[in-house]
Amino acid sequence: MQQIQFQQGPIRPPSEADSLLIRTTQGCPWNKCHFCTLFEGMAFSIRPVEDIKRDIWAAKAFYKGRQFESCFLQDGDSFAMDTKDLLDVLQTLKQAFPGLKQVSSYGRAQTMTKKSPAEMKAICDAGLNMLYCGMESGSIEVLKKMKKGITPKSILKSAEYAKQAGMKMMTFIILGLGGKEFSDQHVNETATLLNQIDPEEIRILSLAVKPGTELDAMVKNGSFTPLTEIEMVMEQKKLISLLENVHGNYGNYHSINLLMELNGRLPEDKPQFLSTIDRFLAFEPEQQQNFILGRRVNYYSRLDDINNQLYFDTVQRELARIEQSGTANIDDIFYQLRQRMI
Ligand code: SF4
Repeated sequence: MQQIQFQQGPIRPPSEADSLLIRTTQGCPWNKCHFCTLFEGMAFSIRPVEDIKRDIWAAKAFYKGRQFESCFLQDGDSFAMDTKDLLDVLQTLKQAFPGLKQVSSYGRAQTMTKKSPAEMKAICDAGLNMLYCGMESGSIEVLKKMKKGITPKSILKSAEYAKQAGMKMMTFIILGLGGKEFSDQHVNETATLLNQIDPEEIRILSLAVKPGTELDAMVKNGSFTPLTEIEMVMEQKKLISLLENVHGNYGNYHSINLLMELNGRLPEDKPQFLSTIDRFLAFEPEQQQNFILGRRVNYYSRLDDINNQLYFDTVQRELARIEQSGTANIDDIFYQLRQRMI
């Protein structure tokens, strides 16, 4: 088998599964968020332009003429590159893969706002036309508590730059990131910021606390109280209700989320999203627990799956076993099951 002769980073967004991956940077220029271990122990660096260009041609040779329509620039922030160098890389990409319709990258707000609007336009015109923004929250308190190193102001400014330049934007939001302490601020201010930005796509994630992170220590020392699964569903209901000026895709694609059917477009699918959430919230507590456990151990993928009597009974027996064992309360079990999924 032919060996890959070009660098590949450790992550890419799930939606880039079929994309060409070209690594422009290594690691994350911030690498301090309390909940994140994506680039743990990896020092950030910008790869030399000549190495990146060599990788592009090596990728072309490796894929033997396969034409890609999309390319994702790894790892954490291609906008950290000098603009001239990034343009050079984008031009080479276009030469090697003329069929590319979309080139995307993660971009940190603090990095992007160091570029001028003219530079952002030049970058978009050269092909980098899709931005992944790890906004996570629109609340200044939550962003500070999680040490995100960005502010709602910088997120908004970077989004304006990106949009004015012509880039599409996908924004990630983490339910539960404010904990019980800042849940209201998290939802209200995230909705406000999303209404201001009006991104092409919002992707929802549900918080799972990775053991060994700073956030894990905060849970243990009592300064962060995680939401229960049901509280996260209620956060999502409030968030959706408050999105009044969003005209784009809204998705729960990651299996860490409970209600995977909340995928579609805003504003048209908003009533359907809310009625799906209300359907879950109207379940009896025993049914809610059954559904949550069934989702977390992969018996169910959608709300309707709870009508499968065989699965329902199997999950019910498991719930009874947990209750009889008396080792932990059920919310703690769900919390631990979510931890295993990240
Ligand atoms: S900016 Fe993103 S990749 Fe970097 S530490 Fe924070 S969450 Fe992780």
